[in-house]
Amino acid sequence: MPTTKKRELDLSDFPPGTVTEYTTLVCLACIFDIFTKQLGLAPRTAFSDVKRHAPTIEELTSRQAMRPYFDSDEKNPHCPYCGSAKRWLARFDTYCIEGSKTTDDARRALIKKLPKADDQFLVIEKKSDSRAVFFEWLDTIGRNLDLSDESWLRDATRMYLERRERKTNWDEIFEELRAVRRSSRLTEGWERDSGRLFLAPQLYSEAILIQYLVSRSHAHGGLTLEGRLTLMDLIRRLRYGGYLDQIGITEREPGEVFEKLIDHLAATHEWGHRTGSESDRVPAKKKTAGKKTTKKSAKKSSKARKGKSTPSEPEAALTESVKLHYVVDRRDFLEKVKSVYASYAA
Ligand SMILES: [Zn+2]
Repeated sequence: MPTTKKRELDLSDFPPGTVTEYTTLVCLACIFDIFTKQLGLAPRTAFSDVKRHAPTIEELTSRQAMRPYFDSDEKNPHCPYCGSAKRWLARFDTYCIEGSKTTDDARRALIKKLPKADDQFLVIEKKSDSRAVFFEWLDTIGRNLDLSDESWLRDATRMYLERRERKTNWDEIFEELRAVRRSSRLTEGWERDSGRLFLAPQLYSEAILIQYLVSRSHAHGGLTLEGRLTLMDLIRRLRYGGYLDQIGITEREPGEVFEKLIDHLAATHEWGHRTGSESDRVPAKKKTAGKKTTKKSAKKSSKARKGKSTPSEPEAALTESVKLHYVVDRRDFLEKVKSVYASYAA
């Protein structure tokens, strides 16, 4: 087996925010120990059993790994359970791809290219729903942002826009951006004007909501471009700013409003394949707003749907099923099992 370090999968064909990567380490000393000492298997039997080992998705993606799995950012990690050094530790890389029209082609092409022998890669499908996917996404971006550095507010906004409108090159839009502002002129979409990005009120409200959701566990209330807000502050702002009316939320009770907001945010992205939502008008509008500032933005609107504004549309059916495709890279694991076995058999 080649031991090249060029290991990363090429994910450049996937729109940003559609693939989540997980890395977890497994301690082979712990596994062999269990198989040979506790279960009394001969090393050879243990070897072939371990080699077939296919971890569950939960084991690979859980934020709290359990023995023999663990997470470590260290360069030379040690097993937290038995202290074994690097050569006993194998790495699983797991890629979770959200099933949607925007990822289907890239996913099929990627899976086709993967080596098939020895189950070096596993492809596992799992059903989920837009809400669960949304929370997982929030969790992931929260972990990737440094909330002590104010620039995270802009980064979170970019990630939200990337998620919402996948065809746009947001890296380019956010290049050398100094500020994100609520537009008093635009009714839909966004506009880049020199160093500033202006968002139509609805889009801006959603950016604030995302910021709140990302930061709320870290402090009393959440941090946003509008300062620190409690849930009540936030809802008040969204109500008086017209956002709740716009998306058809008529509830008064904060908890109910919050639930509706979550459903709305989770379901209005492209993977939801929703039509007729007023939020879908945003991409369509970018045609005009974006054209002035970037060449690329005209193209993205070709896929945009014309949405009719239907604020009274029942929000109950917003949680939609989403298919998740997990690709598990077992190459490092297989190699390490082999070398560990060699030392056992010696
Ligand atoms: Zn161990």
